[in-house]
Amino acid sequence: MKECKRCLLREAAEDATFENIRERIDRLSPNEKADDELYSRRLDACRNCDHLISGICMKCGCYVEFRAAFRQLKCPNASDRKW
Ligand code: SF4
Repeated sequence: MKECKRCLLREAAEDATFENIRERIDRLSPNEKADDELYSRRLDACRNCDHLISGICMKCGCYVEFRAAFRQLKCPNASDRKW
């Protein structure tokens, strides 16, 4: 994968991986899942963060499009938490 600073996975041309993540998000229960507005706000914050490289948060190693889908999870950057 080409390194792409401040790109989400869907923008880094990793279609198969993104599709796999979408399917896993779709299987989350309503209790686990962030609503659309919260999810979108979180991803906007990630897209403005220097720790985002090609869809992966360099603070935790997660695909942010997956991590942000879990309502109870937080941005892992404890010293400057964006969500
Ligand atoms: S540190 Fe927080 S805001 Fe930055 S990419 Fe990671 S999850 Fe997103």
